[in-house]
Amino acid sequence: MLVVMKQGATAAQIDAVCQWIRDKGYTAQPMPGAQRTAVGLVGNDGRVDGSPLEDFPGVAEVIYVSNPYKQVSREWKQETTIVEIAPGVRFGGSEVPIIAGPCSVENEQQIVTAARQVKAAGAVALRGGAFKPRSSPYSFQGMGLEGLKLLKLAKQETGLPIVTEAMDEAGAELVAEYADMIQIGARNMQNYSLLKTAGKLKKPVLLKRGMAATIQDLLLSAEYLLAEGNPNVVLCERGLRSFDTASRNLFDLTAIPVVQQLSHLPIVADPSHGTGRRDKVLPMSRAAIAAGADGILIEVHPQPEKAMSDGAQSQTPAQFAETVVQLKRVAEAIGRRIAG
Ligand code: PEP
Ligand code: MN
Repeated sequence: MLVVMKQGATAAQIDAVCQWIRDKGYTAQPMPGAQRTAVGLVGNDGRVDGSPLEDFPGVAEVIYVSNPYKQVSREWKQETTIVEIAPGVRFGGSEVPIIAGPCSVENEQQIVTAARQVKAAGAVALRGGAFKPRSSPYSFQGMGLEGLKLLKLAKQETGLPIVTEAMDEAGAELVAEYADMIQIGARNMQNYSLLKTAGKLKKPVLLKRGMAATIQDLLLSAEYLLAEGNPNVVLCERGLRSFDTASRNLFDLTAIPVVQQLSHLPIVADPSHGTGRRDKVLPMSRAAIAAGADGILIEVHPQPEKAMSDGAQSQTPAQFAETVVQLKRVAEAIGRRIAG
């Protein structure tokens, strides 16, 4: 339940609402907004009758949040959340940041070269996995801690903040020491103990939609992060499993406007995993910007043919540079701007 206060409601009026909620045994969460304050009621299992509050001075309306998720919903918070992962690198505003880099960190030269190349082309954050969730246990599993150290080096060389994946609870704390944004991958979207840990860490999280997850599943997973006290969550559409083998995944661009209607959290698009083919990344990243994505994640490798993972979908640095040029035009056409 959400109690929306009138514009200009006094602190005492807000306190009275909070006190009523606490007296009932629930938690009150005041959320000051640009126009007015809303007070959330947290901790209830079923519907709480909030009609007495409608008569409280300063109360504009009582809204029942009927979705199974609460804190991630637009009813809960009207304004889109801005998630800042480094000074000036913000998701959810009018500027659209581009995250780019290889699927995996492979060695010093590869990651530092990639970082320089994507920065020169216009990326404002570097991605690269040190812990890789691979379908096969015989595939390259990532460099682990060594990979995190190389990401740190690439950050020192370029100034780009780091987005990198954590696969389990123990790894999350380690990753948080090196990353500016912790990625929770598609395969771990419903790893609830990992979500709880990442929620407690308070580092910005990039939460990727599971390959067979509904939008409601995605929002409920994000709810875990917010419920643990981490409001810095960016969602990511990365394609769904489908019957059609023409592309690696079915890139669900509809998820972008749907999520933006249901939730205040920013949503980024990943056309690399979404399509699985580097020649499809440019048209689908244009489409994602046009659809309103709050950021784009693109895999770029200095030599994709030599990549240890996801080479087929990794753009060359030249392709990426051309992509950024075109994305700037699309963003401008819809009144936004590519960040950087
Ligand atoms: C990745 O970003 O390299 C990755 C493994 O993504 P996903 O979890 O979306 O498959
Ligand atoms: Mn990948």
